Amino acid sequence: MSERPRLTVLSGPSGVGKSTVVAHMRKEHPEVWLSVSATTRKPRPGERHGVQYFFVTDEEMDKLIANGELLEWAEFAGNRYGTPRAAVHERLEAGEPVLLEIDLQGARLVRESMPEAQLVFLAPPSWDELVRRLTGRGTEAPEVIERRLAAARIELAAESEFDTTLVNTSVEDVARELLALMNVV
Ligand code: ADP
Ligand code: 5GP
Repeated sequence: MSERPRLTVLSGPSGVGKSTVVAHMRKEHPEVWLSVSATTRKPRPGERHGVQYFFVTDEEMDKLIANGELLEWAEFAGNRYGTPRAAVHERLEAGEPVLLEIDLQGARLVRESMPEAQLVFLAPPSWDELVRRLTGRGTEAPEVIERRLAAARIELAAESEFDTTLVNTSVEDVARELLALMNVV
């Protein structure tokens, strides 16, 4: 059987360190392709269109959904997020490993449409540490943090739906483990 690269989905509660782990991994392995999602969320300081996200209006998001251009999409803490379908398929066809960093609802939708995908859950060392990280990031207003923590409780309860759990104690260790799961090293 040929070793076809799989689609890997990385999920986990907001603030657990998904972006940090992925950024660390891609610094050393820029060949790992990360899908850039579309979102209706406003950019945080330093975020750029086409790099962290494609920042779109509500109307543009409506159109992407209506035209079937998204592999999956979900509403998360008051904004919509979705994975552009074409780019993911192109990379998989080209035989490259593909990584999606999406929420629990998106992970479930990918599992339905692409059962061969591997689902990886990034867990915090503890609830208190998750709250510390999300608050310490300093990018969200208190009411947004509350919404994200409410979502986090739901996401943490769904850990068993995933193929693998990685606990984000050390960014370096988790990045290495993720690369191994993706057959990159
Ligand atoms: P996510 O993408 O999951 O929402 P971020 O990558 O933005 O989370 O990380 C949230 C905060 O936690 C950031 O301030 C980041 O620097 C910090 N962080 C991430 N991983 C770790 C870790 N292993 N130990 C301590 N702090 C971490
Ligand atoms: P943030 O606003 O912190 O960048 O992301 C909030 C949540 O949305 C995170 O859990 C992130 O993984 C998720 N997310 C980002 N892009 C997508 C996407 O394309 N689809 C889905 N379903 N979730 C996404």
